Amino acid sequence: RAKSAGGNRFELADPESDARAITRHALTTALPAALERGEFFIEYQPLVHLGDGSVRGAEALVRWAHPQHGVLGPDRFIPLAEHTGLIVPLGRWVLEGAVRQARRWQGTDTGPVRINVNVSPMQLHHPGLVADTVDILEREGLEPGALCLELTESALIGADDDLLKPLRRLAEMGVDIALDDFGTGYSNLANLRRLPVSVLKLDRSFTRGMQQYPADPVDRKIVEGIVALAHSLDLSVTVEGVETGAQADALRELGCDTAQGWFYARPGPPDRLHTLDLADAVG
Ligand code: C2E
Ligand code: MG
Ligand code: MG
Ligand code: MG
Repeated sequence: RAKSAGGNRFELADPESDARAITRHALTTALPAALERGEFFIEYQPLVHLGDGSVRGAEALVRWAHPQHGVLGPDRFIPLAEHTGLIVPLGRWVLEGAVRQARRWQGTDTGPVRINVNVSPMQLHHPGLVADTVDILEREGLEPGALCLELTESALIGADDDLLKPLRRLAEMGVDIALDDFGTGYSNLANLRRLPVSVLKLDRSFTRGMQQYPADPVDRKIVEGIVALAHSLDLSVTVEGVETGAQADALRELGCDTAQGWFYARPGPPDRLHTLDLADAVG
């Protein structure tokens, strides 16, 4: 509600968004100390091979165990950390923890093999990305081929060559780069050739059209086209947000390679993944 008094205009925000703004401000201010105090933790969600149902890896997803507000999801604080730059040390912390966990899994038979870590645009702009990644991989003893960095389509589309240079270096070392939330931006598909990516992660919005079986014919066609293009460019296709068996069946039939979603498992602590029995979920 805008209100004008005399010549001075001022805004009266509604109490709810006011409260939200205050909370956002408080959360932003609390971020550095939270990192110091170890209030962040990582959950892992399996990446499942659609062909044989085996767990091929896991995506690391950060959470904040806030002393007053309880567990906060990344959508609540990643944008704030992006804004203040704290995402750089926080992102490094996630990378280190996830790589360490991946190394631990390697000692077991049933644990995931590969680890996916989200990287935000500001981390990509930060000059230390390559050195930090190399350093962490060496220190933890994980081969680069076991790591996949996920960047959103919007972070990469329109990126100039300088911005892509660090990603090219990582890709040359064997680190996989995934284009996350693919299909939500306005990507020029021809642009894909320019990017050093090896994995397309199809956004959840596509998975939704596969809810019924047989799937929505238009959605089917779109996914079919994307998969054909991706495979012709030697990219593998991962689908996110698979919540039902019907979706998994449709996406398998359309040639998608890997799936992730509640149908298989919700994100959880690392030890749960280790013993995950997908026999029921994979028909
Ligand atoms: P994302 O990378 O696209 O991760 C997938 C999101 O989908 C996760 O949400 C996951 O919990 C959720 N999800 C998985 N399966 C299903 C499903 O079957 N149905 C539904 N409805 N949702 C599903 P989450 O954990 O809340 O993370 C949200 C976003 O926050 C991530 O989206 C990613 O962009 C960002 N994020 C998470 N961890 C990090 C991090 O360490 N660093 C950065 N920069 N971003 C992160
Ligand atoms: Mg992701
Ligand atoms: Mg995603
Ligand atoms: Mg997403």
